[in-house]
Amino acid sequence: MATNPGPANGLVRLMREELVEISHRAYQRGLVVGVSGNNSVRIPGTDAVLIKATGVNQGDMDTADTVLLDLDGNVLEAGREPSKEIRWHLAIYRQNPGVGGVVHVHPPYATAWAVANRTPPLVHTAARGVLRKIGLVELAPSGSQELADLVAGAFSDRDLRVALMREHGIIAIGPDLRTAYYRAEYLEDTAKVALLAAQVQALGPDRGVSLAGERAAAEGGG
Ligand SMILES: [Zn+2]
Repeated sequence: MATNPGPANGLVRLMREELVEISHRAYQRGLVVGVSGNNSVRIPGTDAVLIKATGVNQGDMDTADTVLLDLDGNVLEAGREPSKEIRWHLAIYRQNPGVGGVVHVHPPYATAWAVANRTPPLVHTAARGVLRKIGLVELAPSGSQELADLVAGAFSDRDLRVALMREHGIIAIGPDLRTAYYRAEYLEDTAKVALLAAQVQALGPDRGVSLAGERAAAEGGG
Protein backbone atom coordinates (compact mmCIF):
# COMPACT_ATOMS: atom_id res chain seq x y z
CA MET A 1 0.00 0.00 0.00
CA ALA A 2 1.61 3.28 -1.10
CA THR A 3 -0.45 5.74 0.89
CA ASN A 4 -3.11 5.18 3.45
CA PRO A 5 -5.71 7.95 3.25
CA GLY A 6 -7.31 6.71 6.45
CA PRO A 7 -10.71 5.17 6.82
CA ALA A 8 -13.76 7.03 5.51
CA ASN A 9 -15.78 8.67 8.26
CA GLY A 10 -19.06 7.05 7.27
CA LEU A 11 -17.56 3.57 7.47
CA VAL A 12 -15.95 4.33 10.85
CA ARG A 13 -19.31 5.51 12.19
CA LEU A 14 -21.00 2.31 11.03
CA MET A 15 -18.34 0.16 12.65
CA ARG A 16 -18.61 2.13 15.91
CA GLU A 17 -22.33 1.33 15.95
CA GLU A 18 -21.63 -2.35 15.22
CA LEU A 19 -19.07 -2.51 18.05
CA VAL A 20 -21.53 -0.92 20.49
CA GLU A 21 -24.40 -3.23 19.46
CA ILE A 22 -22.35 -6.41 19.82
CA SER A 23 -20.94 -5.26 23.17
CA HIS A 24 -24.46 -4.55 24.48
CA ARG A 25 -25.53 -8.06 23.45
CA ALA A 26 -22.53 -9.63 25.19
CA TYR A 27 -23.36 -7.84 28.43
CA GLN A 28 -27.09 -8.54 28.25
CA ARG A 29 -26.42 -12.24 27.68
CA GLY A 30 -24.26 -12.37 30.79
CA LEU A 31 -21.04 -13.11 28.92
CA VAL A 32 -19.17 -10.40 30.85
CA VAL A 33 -19.56 -8.34 34.05
CA GLY A 34 -18.40 -4.97 35.35
CA VAL A 35 -15.99 -3.16 33.05
CA SER A 36 -14.32 -6.39 31.93
CA GLY A 37 -13.83 -7.65 28.42
CA ASN A 38 -13.16 -5.73 25.25
CA ASN A 39 -14.32 -6.31 21.70
CA SER A 40 -12.70 -4.78 18.64
CA VAL A 41 -13.41 -4.46 14.94
CA ARG A 42 -11.26 -3.77 11.90
CA ILE A 43 -12.42 -0.96 9.61
CA PRO A 44 -12.90 -3.06 6.44
CA GLY A 45 -10.15 -2.61 3.86
CA THR A 46 -7.90 -0.56 6.17
CA ASP A 47 -5.20 -1.00 8.78
CA ALA A 48 -7.32 0.69 11.44
CA VAL A 49 -9.33 -0.87 14.27
CA LEU A 50 -11.86 0.30 16.82
CA ILE A 51 -11.79 -1.01 20.39
CA LYS A 52 -13.71 -0.26 23.57
CA ALA A 53 -12.28 2.52 25.71
CA THR A 54 -10.73 1.43 29.01
CA GLY A 55 -12.88 1.33 32.15
CA VAL A 56 -16.24 1.18 30.34
CA ASN A 57 -19.04 -1.36 30.92
CA GLN A 58 -19.99 -3.21 27.72
CA GLY A 59 -23.68 -2.81 28.51
CA ASP A 60 -23.46 0.94 29.05
CA MET A 61 -21.02 1.94 26.33
CA ASP A 62 -21.94 4.14 23.39
CA THR A 63 -20.07 5.20 20.26
CA ALA A 64 -18.12 7.85 22.22
CA ASP A 65 -16.57 4.94 24.17
CA THR A 66 -14.84 3.50 21.09
CA VAL A 67 -11.23 4.34 20.18
CA LEU A 68 -9.71 4.30 16.66
CA LEU A 69 -6.11 3.06 16.35
CA ASP A 70 -3.72 1.88 13.68
CA LEU A 71 -2.25 -1.62 13.89
CA ASP A 72 0.89 -0.29 15.61
CA GLY A 73 -1.24 1.00 18.48
CA ASN A 74 -1.15 4.70 17.57
CA VAL A 75 -4.43 6.34 18.62
CA LEU A 76 -5.84 8.13 15.54
CA GLU A 77 -8.11 10.53 17.40
CA ALA A 78 -7.72 12.57 20.55
CA GLY A 79 -9.76 11.70 23.60
CA ARG A 80 -10.30 8.24 24.97
CA GLU A 81 -7.75 5.69 26.09
CA PRO A 82 -8.04 2.18 24.55
CA SER A 83 -8.61 -0.97 26.60
CA LYS A 84 -5.42 -2.20 28.23
CA GLU A 85 -5.76 -5.49 26.31
CA ILE A 86 -5.25 -3.68 22.99
CA ARG A 87 -1.78 -5.23 22.60
CA TRP A 88 -2.94 -8.78 21.89
CA HIS A 89 -5.94 -7.61 19.81
CA LEU A 90 -3.51 -5.80 17.50
CA ALA A 91 -1.19 -8.82 17.41
CA ILE A 92 -4.08 -10.93 16.08
CA TYR A 93 -5.02 -8.36 13.40
CA ARG A 94 -1.38 -7.86 12.32
CA GLN A 95 -0.64 -11.54 11.81
CA ASN A 96 -3.93 -12.42 10.10
CA PRO A 97 -5.36 -9.92 7.58
CA GLY A 98 -8.48 -12.11 7.34
CA VAL A 99 -9.56 -11.24 10.90
CA GLY A 100 -12.24 -8.53 10.95
CA GLY A 101 -13.43 -8.76 14.54
CA VAL A 102 -12.28 -9.96 17.97
CA VAL A 103 -14.53 -10.70 20.96
CA HIS A 104 -13.07 -10.95 24.46
CA VAL A 105 -15.48 -11.75 27.29
CA HIS A 106 -15.51 -13.74 30.57
CA PRO A 107 -18.56 -16.05 30.28
CA PRO A 108 -18.96 -18.18 33.42
CA TYR A 109 -19.07 -21.72 31.99
CA ALA A 110 -16.19 -21.33 29.55
CA THR A 111 -14.21 -19.43 32.16
CA ALA A 112 -14.82 -22.23 34.69
CA TRP A 113 -13.11 -24.65 32.26
CA ALA A 114 -10.31 -22.10 31.77
CA VAL A 115 -9.84 -21.83 35.55
CA ALA A 116 -9.61 -25.63 35.70
CA ASN A 117 -7.01 -25.41 32.91
CA ARG A 118 -9.07 -27.70 30.66
CA THR A 119 -10.86 -27.22 27.37
CA PRO A 120 -14.45 -28.51 27.20
CA PRO A 121 -15.28 -31.21 24.65
CA LEU A 122 -17.26 -30.05 21.61
CA VAL A 123 -20.33 -31.90 22.81
CA HIS A 124 -22.88 -31.05 20.16
CA THR A 125 -22.89 -30.98 16.40
CA ALA A 126 -23.38 -27.20 16.21
CA ALA A 127 -20.26 -26.49 18.26
CA ARG A 128 -18.25 -29.04 16.26
CA GLY A 129 -19.34 -27.44 13.00
CA VAL A 130 -18.84 -23.83 14.01
CA LEU A 131 -15.78 -24.03 16.29
CA ARG A 132 -13.96 -27.22 15.19
CA LYS A 133 -11.49 -26.90 18.09
CA ILE A 134 -10.68 -24.83 21.16
CA GLY A 135 -7.29 -23.34 22.03
CA LEU A 136 -5.94 -22.67 25.53
CA VAL A 137 -3.73 -19.63 26.23
CA GLU A 138 -1.50 -19.79 29.32
CA LEU A 139 -1.79 -17.27 32.14
CA ALA A 140 0.15 -13.99 31.82
CA PRO A 141 -0.45 -10.49 33.22
CA SER A 142 -3.23 -8.45 31.58
CA GLY A 143 -1.88 -5.98 29.05
CA SER A 144 1.61 -7.54 29.02
CA GLN A 145 3.73 -8.23 25.95
CA GLU A 146 4.05 -11.78 27.29
CA LEU A 147 0.27 -12.25 27.01
CA ALA A 148 0.27 -10.68 23.53
CA ASP A 149 2.94 -13.17 22.44
CA LEU A 150 1.02 -16.12 23.90
CA VAL A 151 -2.24 -15.06 22.18
CA ALA A 152 -0.47 -14.44 18.87
CA GLY A 153 1.19 -17.84 19.18
CA ALA A 154 -2.14 -19.60 19.70
CA PHE A 155 -3.83 -17.82 16.78
CA SER A 156 -0.88 -18.38 14.43
CA ASP A 157 -2.82 -21.60 13.86
CA ARG A 158 -5.07 -20.31 11.07
CA ASP A 159 -7.69 -22.97 11.81
CA LEU A 160 -8.21 -21.69 15.36
CA ARG A 161 -11.36 -19.61 15.87
CA VAL A 162 -11.74 -19.57 19.66
CA ALA A 163 -9.51 -19.97 22.70
CA LEU A 164 -9.79 -20.04 26.47
CA MET A 165 -7.47 -17.77 28.45
CA ARG A 166 -6.35 -19.61 31.58
CA GLU A 167 -7.92 -18.18 34.78
CA HIS A 168 -9.30 -15.32 32.70
CA GLY A 169 -11.89 -15.65 29.91
CA ILE A 170 -12.20 -16.33 26.19
CA ILE A 171 -11.20 -14.96 22.79
CA ALA A 172 -13.23 -15.48 19.61
CA ILE A 173 -12.15 -14.18 16.21
CA GLY A 174 -13.93 -13.98 12.87
CA PRO A 175 -13.93 -12.41 9.41
CA ASP A 176 -16.27 -9.82 10.94
CA LEU A 177 -17.28 -8.89 14.49
CA ARG A 178 -20.71 -10.52 14.35
CA THR A 179 -19.27 -13.89 13.32
CA ALA A 180 -16.70 -13.64 16.12
CA TYR A 181 -19.53 -12.90 18.56
CA TYR A 182 -21.57 -15.92 17.45
CA ARG A 183 -18.49 -18.10 17.93
CA ALA A 184 -18.13 -16.76 21.48
CA GLU A 185 -21.75 -17.77 22.14
CA TYR A 186 -21.12 -21.28 20.75
CA LEU A 187 -18.03 -21.65 22.94
CA GLU A 188 -19.98 -20.68 26.07
CA ASP A 189 -22.82 -23.00 25.03
CA THR A 190 -20.62 -26.05 24.53
CA ALA A 191 -18.84 -25.32 27.85
CA LYS A 192 -22.23 -25.20 29.60
CA VAL A 193 -23.75 -28.27 27.94
CA ALA A 194 -20.55 -30.28 28.47
CA LEU A 195 -20.78 -29.62 32.21
CA LEU A 196 -24.51 -30.38 32.37
CA ALA A 197 -24.08 -33.58 30.32
CA ALA A 198 -21.36 -34.75 32.74
CA GLN A 199 -23.75 -34.15 35.63
CA VAL A 200 -26.56 -36.08 33.91
CA GLN A 201 -24.24 -39.00 33.19
CA ALA A 202 -23.17 -39.01 36.85
CA LEU A 203 -26.75 -39.51 38.08
CA GLY A 204 -27.43 -42.85 39.75
CA PRO A 205 -29.96 -45.56 38.73
CA ASP A 206 -32.81 -43.58 40.32
CA ARG A 207 -31.87 -40.79 37.89
CA GLY A 208 -30.95 -38.65 40.88
CA VAL A 209 -34.51 -37.40 41.19
CA SER A 210 -37.11 -38.86 43.55
CA LEU A 211 -40.71 -38.04 42.66
CA ALA A 212 -43.52 -38.48 45.20
CA GLY A 213 -45.87 -40.20 42.72
CA GLU A 214 -43.29 -42.79 41.71
CA ARG A 215 -42.55 -43.56 45.37
CA ALA A 216 -46.20 -44.14 46.12
CA ALA A 217 -46.61 -46.45 43.08
CA ALA A 218 -43.54 -48.49 44.11
CA GLU A 219 -44.99 -48.88 47.59
CA GLY A 220 -48.27 -50.12 46.15
CA GLY A 221 -50.20 -47.07 47.17
CA GLY A 222 -51.84 -44.65 44.89
ZN1 LIG B 1 -10.41 -10.08 30.14
